[in-house]
Amino acid sequence: MNDSLQAKSALVVFSGGQDSTTCLYWAINNFNAVRTLTFDYGQRHRIELECAKQIAELARVPNEVLSIGTFAELGGNALTGNQEVEVQKEKSNRENLPNTFVPGRNLILLSFAAARAWQLEIENIVTGVCQTDYSGYPDCRKNTIEALQLALNLGMERQFVLHTPLMWLDKAQTVMMAKDLGALEALSFSHTCYNGIFPPCGSCQACHLRNKGFCEAGVIDPLIERAKKVT
Ligand code: ZN
Repeated sequence: MNDSLQAKSALVVFSGGQDSTTCLYWAINNFNAVRTLTFDYGQRHRIELECAKQIAELARVPNEVLSIGTFAELGGNALTGNQEVEVQKEKSNRENLPNTFVPGRNLILLSFAAARAWQLEIENIVTGVCQTDYSGYPDCRKNTIEALQLALNLGMERQFVLHTPLMWLDKAQTVMMAKDLGALEALSFSHTCYNGIFPPCGSCQACHLRNKGFCEAGVIDPLIERAKKVT
């Protein structure tokens, strides 16, 4: 990280999940001023918004919630509608997208984030997208993000940089990065479970992947530790 970037501020696209919490601490470690932006897109798990708020308070950064209810009107899927989340046994490909897929989700969210960043005169935008285990989401890929950055800069006459610190990490590496950044306490408040419950269900694909990452990293998941205390 060079000195000129250090002096700048960053806007973190923040869901209150494991990845964006790690990104928040990455941003805090790399920029002087950090803000978070959380989208209320009609997700059926309102717990996400509460987690985002709690973690932002813990990290002492502003958390702004932007309401974009249009997502729910675009059509049913498991994150905004009433469909059950299907269990993914194998990694999906582009022809077999998981039913948690909201078409163009990251393109839309990052465009909103850039529009907000423009108003705030922030050029650094941080997102937790990851190509390594992108679970069939084509808008998590490096090429997509690079193309979007170019489009945003052309369309808004700014020099936005879309930072993707997790792009090439697997889940275990993300856990180790969170540990190095001092984000473990914040991760105890993060939300991952597709079933939207605390304590997490432990059996959905999201819980499974999270558990696998922590196990492989040799780190005890602070979320599970916190859950034990309240049950
Ligand atoms: Zn779960």
